[in-house]
Amino acid sequence: MKSIAIFCGSNFGNHDAYLEVTKKLARELVSRKIKIVYGGGAVGLMGALADEALSLGGQVIGVIPEKLAGAEIAHKNLTDLHVVSTMHERKALMAELSDGFIALPGGIGTLEEIIEVLTWTQLGFHNKPCGLLNINGFYDKLTGFLADMSDNGFLSEYHLKLLNVSESVSGLVDVLQNQQIIYQPKWVK
Ligand code: AMP
Repeated sequence: MKSIAIFCGSNFGNHDAYLEVTKKLARELVSRKIKIVYGGGAVGLMGALADEALSLGGQVIGVIPEKLAGAEIAHKNLTDLHVVSTMHERKALMAELSDGFIALPGGIGTLEEIIEVLTWTQLGFHNKPCGLLNINGFYDKLTGFLADMSDNGFLSEYHLKLLNVSESVSGLVDVLQNQQIIYQPKWVK
């Protein structure tokens, strides 16, 4: 696994644990020589992730829509920054540049990004692993809801398990590095 896209808040959140786990993930990926692909911003957890990795000599690739870059919130010191026109182009390019995906705590942008790439894995548009870093139970309600979706017959158990959930940074990266995803059709008779 050469690169992982990280989705995370453009704010810091209200608990120090969110910033701590963000920096820890940056250190873990740099130590494994895994390139970080992310939204290219200089703000919140996104900026902290990039700063921590760059300070340790890691490679950080940003993909940002012109509109956000223009608001002068694009990170200025990245290994590479792709400026694209739309959010759709951003997410497609981030997915193309990455071998897997991890969501740290964040808001609706983060939620949308991880769920989108998970649906692409479910549909077989790619076979890249997805993970949630569930710090302080931040994602418990989401994982509970996904389990309800499965109980109600809208999400198979197999596809539910495609979203790896862990409190451990190194544990989650290990899982993603070792996971072989075999496509299974979503529609079961
Ligand atoms: P949220 O989880 O709602 O904070 O959203 C994170 C997402 O917000 C990012 O992936 C971007 O889509 C968007 N975003 C907000 N501010 C920025 C920024 N300064 N740079 C890049 N993306 C941003």
